[in-house]
Amino acid sequence: QKAEWAKLVNEQTTTKDGQHVELAANIGTPKDLEGVINNGAEGIGLYRTEFLYMGRTELPSEEEQFEAYKEVVERMEGKPVVIRTLDIGGDKELPYLDLPKEMNPFLGFRAIRLCLEEKEIFRTQLRALLRASAFGNLKVMFPMIATLDEFRQGKAMLLEEKDKLVANGVSVSDSIEIGMMVEIPSTAVAADLFAKEVDFFSIGTNDLIQYTMAADRMNERVSYLYQPYHPAILRLVKMVVDAAHKEGKWAGMCGEMAGDEVAIPLLLGLGLDEFSMSATSILPARNQMLTLSKEELAAFANEMIYLDTADEVEKRVRETYLK
Ligand code: PEP
Ligand code: MG
Repeated sequence: QKAEWAKLVNEQTTTKDGQHVELAANIGTPKDLEGVINNGAEGIGLYRTEFLYMGRTELPSEEEQFEAYKEVVERMEGKPVVIRTLDIGGDKELPYLDLPKEMNPFLGFRAIRLCLEEKEIFRTQLRALLRASAFGNLKVMFPMIATLDEFRQGKAMLLEEKDKLVANGVSVSDSIEIGMMVEIPSTAVAADLFAKEVDFFSIGTNDLIQYTMAADRMNERVSYLYQPYHPAILRLVKMVVDAAHKEGKWAGMCGEMAGDEVAIPLLLGLGLDEFSMSATSILPARNQMLTLSKEELAAFANEMIYLDTADEVEKRVRETYLK
């Protein structure tokens, strides 16, 4: 089977009915690039920049960040690279920021919430991203957006830093797409409002599932509620994809669900444009997609969202597409 997959490294991902789907990789550091390239990713769908900030005693400088982002876009040779701004808090702590302990860290002061307040930390990262954008196909994505106002503030800060750099003669790409993660139910439910202003969505199911089911993603006792195939989750995905397409935007997914063989037929059917996953899942996913017809799956997925339970959905997918 491995040999079969290896043949697909330099192929694009095309479904049985000839539709192109983008298969991208999630990375945490430039060190992950080798695996990404060896596994034939068509881009980076999620670069988790928080690892640049972790395991150290002070913030990374603009220069250090610039070098890391530049290396990633350069080595991807013009393929799309979605870089997520700092997503700290929740399960990821930064001791040197000395933030007060919270009762519910996953519902607390994290990610974009922290960045919009700690403006210098955020602006430093934005400048590093803007400077790196001149070296490849860089897209910026904000994590944990809950309201349109947060997205607007983040985008305004990015554009302000861009204007300042340009005024100082620094090269910056003028076609940077600015998107957001959909990982808070409010943004999925109101995706039509966000779709008018973003360039793309990337659905973060790791968090979207925990917030939709109100089940901590780290807590074993409630892990039975962590149900990617629950019709509620599938309906949210559908709302996001449909809203994006209505505005001519694209919708991807960078949560674990995107690389899961049971989820893939459902997500193709719901019309997802981009699937971002760990590098080792790319070739099996591409191999699976070659055998699936997107048109046929559209009817199937739209039936699945009306089943009663996640188990029934899983059973139907397995019977029909994973024999
Ligand atoms: C997610 O929430 O699905 C996601 C991709 O982000 P992270 O796992 O880094 O929270
Ligand atoms: Mg997340």
